[in-house]
Parts: sequence; structure tokens; C-alpha cells
Amino acid sequence: MSEKLNPIIAPTVAETPEGISGQGFFATSIEKAVGLARKNSLWPLPFATSCCGIEFMATMASHYDLARFGSERLSFSPRQSDLLMVMGTVAKKMGPVLREIYIQMAEPKWVIAVGACAASGGIFDTYSVLQGIDRVIPVDVYVPGCPPRPEQIINGILKIQDLVGNESLRRRNSKEYEDLMKRYNIE
Ligand code: SF4
Repeated sequence: MSEKLNPIIAPTVAETPEGISGQGFFATSIEKAVGLARKNSLWPLPFATSCCGIEFMATMASHYDLARFGSERLSFSPRQSDLLMVMGTVAKKMGPVLREIYIQMAEPKWVIAVGACAASGGIFDTYSVLQGIDRVIPVDVYVPGCPPRPEQIINGILKIQDLVGNESLRRRNSKEYEDLMKRYNIE
């Protein structure tokens, strides 16, 4: 019986990067090899403050199984994680805390804003809620929805994997990156 699996829950296999192959050998660039390793071993730090965090729990559980993307090892220590996932409403008072966590993460690091609240404040257009985490830290991928379904969160992970896998090894030392950090007053 052949059952067609939904690609979002199908088993995943890391794709071979572009390169030259022949009998008994395969050669590629160091950049592509590092990109392959990084994109398939992301360690997320879940910064979950409200309902979107529950969707993330479903994303981690057996049905959606984020482990298929090499991301089963969550880290609650910023020193040991490279993907900050912000999920939920972030109060303005939490802004400096979030920023501090981002600063404590070692380079290279990436950020996903999961859900409307993290991306823009969502329905909470009030004096106390941060109107998007990109007011305090740079964001690489935004996942829309209130809340986004696990499929959308996985789609965000796939987008981050694309960015990570194709990022130049020089990017973190570039003038553009330095300027980006300066815009957030991060040295
Ligand atoms: S985006 Fe919606 S589901 Fe997510 S934290 Fe905000 S209110 Fe909750």
C-alpha cells in the first residue's frame, strides 16, 4: 500500500551540497560544507511567553517532530544556542531581557519571530506591549499567524535553514553586519 506522506511530516534527509563527484570522491567548498553542518544542527532557544509557545510544544512533539531537522536539542542557555525563537506577546518590560539574551548568544546566531505578537505586537496595540521584537533585536524570519500552526513554524525553520545553509562565512565580519548591529546599539 503506497501512502503519500505530507512533505511537512515526511522523514527528512539532508541534501548534498553542490560539488564535484566521481568514483569514490566528492568535493565541495568549505563554505557549503559548513553551511550544511550548521543548517542541520540548529539549537533553538525557545523564548516562549504565551500561547504561541503551546504551538511550539506541538511542533516539538512526536507528530511534527522537529528532531527531523536536527533541532531536537533545545537550549535554555543562550551560550549554547544559535537560534532564538521568540513566541508570544512580549511586554515592553521584557524587551531589555530579550535583548540581553540575544547579546549573550555566540555568533553566528539567527532569530525567528513566531506569531503576530512577536512580529508586530499582534492584537495588543497597547501601551505595555512591544510592537514587534525587531524594535530591540534583528529578526531573520517572521512566521505569521495567531497562532501559527506547527506547519507554519516548520516552514519558518525551513526558511532559516535556507538562510543558514547559504550564508557566507564572511557575513559576520562584513560592514553590512556591523552596521546592522550598530542600528541596535550592539557592539
Ligand atoms: S500571536 Fe496570537 S496565539 Fe500567538 S501569542 Fe499572540 S495572541 Fe497568542
